[in-house]
Amino acid sequence: MLCLVCNQTISNTTTWNMLFSLSRSQHKSPLCTECMQQLEEISGEQCRLCSRPFSKLAAKYRKGDLCNDCFIWEEQPEWSGLLERNLSIFHYNEFLKEVLARFKFRGDHELVNIFASYMRQKFKQISDRKNTPIIIPVPLSPERLYERGFNQAYSLASLLHFPIDDILERVHTEKQSKKKRTERVLADSPFSLRHNIQRDRYANKQLLLIDDIYTTGTTLRQISKVLKPLSPKSICALTLARG
Ligand SMILES: [Zn+2]
Ligand SMILES: [Zn+2]
Repeated sequence: MLCLVCNQTISNTTTWNMLFSLSRSQHKSPLCTECMQQLEEISGEQCRLCSRPFSKLAAKYRKGDLCNDCFIWEEQPEWSGLLERNLSIFHYNEFLKEVLARFKFRGDHELVNIFASYMRQKFKQISDRKNTPIIIPVPLSPERLYERGFNQAYSLASLLHFPIDDILERVHTEKQSKKKRTERVLADSPFSLRHNIQRDRYANKQLLLIDDIYTTGTTLRQISKVLKPLSPKSICALTLARG
């Protein structure tokens, strides 16, 4: 077996080491030990809303149990409370940056398997309250989808082995002003709901957005705003990395 990232043969010894660490962390990974160790899981104190690790944040950018960014979001009535929580799994370190670039931009789709067990474990934690959340991937614009051949958020969502509600559309941002799509819900948002969705399916349900990276939180909040009229119980997000 070859490591998906560095192509090094995963030797028997390595495999045994992996199995040993697996039994504790429960992460089966198609990676060699060296690569696996470079994936840094977020742990310890973090922002209650966006999972930003406080260990990497200067104290002046903290406001109690929130990071400064979330504090500012929550201060604005227009955005406050829309996104209940984002859970991110990994630090967006150099290693993950490289892996995600290969995965997204260089078409190395197989790399998604690295994240399977991590995604499933987090999903289990989120689904704890007897109800499985409805999984909604962050969409790409048709232009981007054509370029890339796949939507990385959809691929990550597929790892969960639950139905996926691909109910959102995104317009290509550069062309937004030219397009003037009347069906756009918000003047400043590239997102909208597909027309043919069964709207009552989402009322009082927990919705879970899936994306690869949480950076500013704008994307997830714009989407939450589009989903809000469906009257969900809550809107949360699961993202692979906290940028
Ligand atoms: Zn490797
Ligand atoms: Zn935050």
